[in-house]
Amino acid sequence: MLQPMTTATERQTQTIQIEGMHCAACVRRVERALVKVDGVSEATADFIAGRAIIEIDRPIEQPMLSAAITGAGYELIDSDDENEQPGIREIRPQLLRAVPALIVGWGIFFAMQANRWADINWNPDTVFPVFFVLATPTLAWGVWPMLRNAARAAARRTTDMDTLIVLGVAAAWGYSTVSALAPVTFEGADASRDVFFDTALIIVGFVSLGRALEARVRLRAAAALTRLLELAPQTARVVEDGLERDIPASDVQVGDTVRVRPGEQIAVDGVVVSGESSLDEALLTGESVPVTKARGDTVFAGTINAEGAFTYQATQVGSATALARITATVERAQASKAPIQRLADQIASVFVPIVVVIAVITFIAWAVFGDNASWTSAVVSAVAVLVVACPCALGLATPAAVAAGSGRAARLGILFRDAEALESAGKIDTVVWDKTGTLTSGRHEVTSVQPNGVEDDELIRLAATVEQESEHPLAAAIVAHAQDRGLELGNAVDFRSRPGSGATAIVDGQLLVVGNERMMSEHSITIDDPESVSTPVYIAQEGRLIGTIRLSDQPKPGASEAVKLLSTREVDSVLISGDTESVVRSISEAVGIASYHSGALPSEKATLVAEHQTSDRRVAMVGDGVNDAPALAQADLGLAMRTGSDIALETAQVALMQSDPRRAAQAVLLARATRSVIRQNLAFAFSYNILLIPLAAGLAVPIFDAVGGVPGGIHWLFGDRGQFEPIAAALAMVASSLSVLTNALRLSRWRA
Ligand code: ADP
Ligand code: MG
Repeated sequence: MLQPMTTATERQTQTIQIEGMHCAACVRRVERALVKVDGVSEATADFIAGRAIIEIDRPIEQPMLSAAITGAGYELIDSDDENEQPGIREIRPQLLRAVPALIVGWGIFFAMQANRWADINWNPDTVFPVFFVLATPTLAWGVWPMLRNAARAAARRTTDMDTLIVLGVAAAWGYSTVSALAPVTFEGADASRDVFFDTALIIVGFVSLGRALEARVRLRAAAALTRLLELAPQTARVVEDGLERDIPASDVQVGDTVRVRPGEQIAVDGVVVSGESSLDEALLTGESVPVTKARGDTVFAGTINAEGAFTYQATQVGSATALARITATVERAQASKAPIQRLADQIASVFVPIVVVIAVITFIAWAVFGDNASWTSAVVSAVAVLVVACPCALGLATPAAVAAGSGRAARLGILFRDAEALESAGKIDTVVWDKTGTLTSGRHEVTSVQPNGVEDDELIRLAATVEQESEHPLAAAIVAHAQDRGLELGNAVDFRSRPGSGATAIVDGQLLVVGNERMMSEHSITIDDPESVSTPVYIAQEGRLIGTIRLSDQPKPGASEAVKLLSTREVDSVLISGDTESVVRSISEAVGIASYHSGALPSEKATLVAEHQTSDRRVAMVGDGVNDAPALAQADLGLAMRTGSDIALETAQVALMQSDPRRAAQAVLLARATRSVIRQNLAFAFSYNILLIPLAAGLAVPIFDAVGGVPGGIHWLFGDRGQFEPIAAALAMVASSLSVLTNALRLSRWRA
């Protein structure tokens, strides 16, 4: 009973793990390299999670992909090592680069401090060359990956974050090397004679360490269902000719019979054939209350069996299971680009050249206009500018928030189709709710039967005979009622459904019309019915009203809470329904909605949504996704709620895996939280660069001079003269990236 989800599954997608991406520029490079591979029609890379999703026309050999990715300067992680977390693979090499650089760097740093404070007065002509010999290989080892990235960028006539680091480190090292090996260069400007090997090493060490930490945090932000998918069972117990056999879950075929024991996890999707149990579907729906499953019910891969035992027949395997498709949707959403991110990307791409220019100007200004320590100041300032300006935080600000936000949403059973949906959900100020099945349970009860010239049972039998063909909740209730009474249904011919009104069919050779007042008036039958809080279904036979069946429906348990959640955050709710006015009014009163529309046809629902939109409002529509398609499409954001046992992720921008109205409210509020994290991150990343670049350029020196020197407590930041220290700049840069990531990670724990 699974409906086709995203077009993604039809087009065939494959997820591959890639190592080494750390910025928006990397993403573009990897995507470009992948689409050049024959058979790959589209590629979406995600540096946050270290993976790419490719759309393929036909199966593609691993070596082909691997070659393309290596050619772009990254590495394809072998699918054989899937068990190993990609994060671990990124963290270890970074640490291997960081540790030697930090040890040697701090060693030189403390040696120089000791010389200064303990009056050792060593001879620079012998000590500096020793530093050179110690520092150069360690530095080369540490900076190598950054150098490779920067060189690759340069070959493409572009720049990236590594360009800045490499230039800064190269300047510090070059100056120090000249100073250590050819001191004659500085004769006459003795005060300038100094080395910055420690600075260069510590910068490289910090940046590598920062990237290791960053990889950890990034993956935590992206981890939602992916990790759970990895935990999905590896084997399934298949029954064949009465024999049970454990086979790899990937070998299970559609049609196989699978046996499940208590406590086991379901391996593939299927339909229960015998036995009964309750299953924890939290992995898919975010709802931890177990769901009872018996013969005919659908079970989903990844869900967990409680006490019972049962067998089921596989209907969806491999990448077709609901879990795999949900995971694909989430991965896709996490990798997609929010519109707001494009701006940040553009800024980041022009940023690097501008910073290089600022660094050069800084250098010249200090060399020409500085006092007697001008060379040192010039190098220190230029290096500090290059290091502090790295727009890493800017590049991480949006994607980290999108990954964490949509990951958190997925664990609540809320699937955003893409980052754009997440972004627009954050702007919603009006939520239009469909009534039946969305705010109400949709499980109607027959409350009264009023026949008009026929027997009770005959009225119900005729109505149910027509309704057995309909998918409407009212129809289902009438059919269930007929079955309760033990009535044998007849044969309906030429069934026609009129969405939002009712249905017609020929039963026993006579035209039967079932539906609301509008349906009746279309068949020239006038209704004179007193107001009631139950929904009337009128039944006419050959143009004559033969009775009324009344049904009532209860608001869902979470309905009032959802409306309240929204209203406390200034989001208005509107109820919209095709039902009669009195019923709609009573439901809206029950759940606390002030504004409602009744008697609306599906097409009119779209018009009503549009009317709300005109008054300068951002409108979301929550519906069941089938009947409400036009309204969902018209709204700024369409949220489709899961109905019955179907896990349908149609074309709505947001799919709610659980038919709980609270999830819809949470979707809007979580998106809002994500939006504000994105804004905070961007504001922070921008102001970080705007504030620290002038400090690094040494603009604070005259200020400190004016106030009589650097205060004692901030010497480590500003040195003796008010010059922002390059080591402090490296720390600041790493800290800014990590703050942006940590801020995004708050979304992983979001609650409402
Ligand atoms: P809602 O807007 O509450 O989801 P619908 O648009 O699905 O409701 O239907 C509107 C009205 O049309 C129902 O309240 C009912 O009166 C009538 N109706 C629609 N389909 C049927 C049906 N199969 N049998 C009887 N009545 C129907
Ligand atoms: Mg409906």
